[in-house]
Amino acid sequence: MSKISGPAAAALASLCPDNVIFLQSLPKAELHAHLNGSIPVKTILELAQKYPPSGAHAAEVADTIEKLGSGVDFNEISDFFFLMSVIYALTSTPEAVATVTRAVLQSFLNPADDGAESPQCAYLELRSTPRATTHMTRERYLVTVLDEIETYPATQAALIVSVDRRMSDLDLAECVSLAIEMKNRGRRVVGIDVCGDPRSGDMRSFTHHLSRAKGAGLGLTVHIAEHTANTTEDSLALLSCRPDRLGHATFLSDELKAFESADPCIEICLSSNLLGKSVASLDAHHIHYYLKNDHPIVICTDDKLPFRTSCLGEYSLLLAQPPLGLGLSRDDVARIARMGMDAAFLRPRDCRSRL
Ligand SMILES: [Zn+2]
Repeated sequence: MSKISGPAAAALASLCPDNVIFLQSLPKAELHAHLNGSIPVKTILELAQKYPPSGAHAAEVADTIEKLGSGVDFNEISDFFFLMSVIYALTSTPEAVATVTRAVLQSFLNPADDGAESPQCAYLELRSTPRATTHMTRERYLVTVLDEIETYPATQAALIVSVDRRMSDLDLAECVSLAIEMKNRGRRVVGIDVCGDPRSGDMRSFTHHLSRAKGAGLGLTVHIAEHTANTTEDSLALLSCRPDRLGHATFLSDELKAFESADPCIEICLSSNLLGKSVASLDAHHIHYYLKNDHPIVICTDDKLPFRTSCLGEYSLLLAQPPLGLGLSRDDVARIARMGMDAAFLRPRDCRSRL
């Protein structure tokens, strides 16, 4: 059930055992992983058993969970959004949030039972949007997630607080204030992320909140130019906050790439782009531009649950020969892994001072 599929699986299957061992041994940083999109299927099935679906959409929810259990791929965006609504329904209590956070951390950072490809990464910056439900406040949500993250050393795991493009000014202000407050309390919040439907929200109204977060010492990453509908003004507003990293940047124009004076690291999510159909093929992927221009990048999974991938799977796409992969050399892949570690918000020197 936890097996990967799709382009990452095909690339991994094409590698000789020696190359698989090489990729497994590389210290990798996972810097773009959404908590709710990274939950192991097994954990969702367990939660669904504990809290059987009820209400108007019970049959549809049961059908989605059944599909998950039988290994059906979620390649349609509508499937993906419905899956997310199912996950939100299953994780409305602090106890359930703690359960899924623990499972996600283990899936990235603990050696797997079969020892095949684990730990997936050496360092994880998990991201999540603070969610208020009838059972918890946004603050309780964050504290619950942080309690789990902080069971790992600071050199291994940290949290990025995501804000959603659809948020009201009030909600946005609350989330940014909570992130700053947690950081000031010594909790392991290291950054802010802007996520959500790329076609919604006016990013000009986000800038002062994002600048406030940066001013408080938080790292800033933004999902940017994810969709052809994203305007230059939209991207310029986000870039004006001087983000440290950019998520996807799929449709960033050459003119805007030149604007990236501070060289923000680009978070590249190959399977997500291919299966989400924002990029037609590996050949057409914007990773080529950044590699050619020696621009910092980090290889990430985005949402490994619907995209059925893993850190090893994504790195396989770098090393496998075309057309299954990019056909990069081991040296190039090792260099990319180092760039990823260097782009962490919590740098090793920070970690040392906190240990
Ligand atoms: Zn993302």
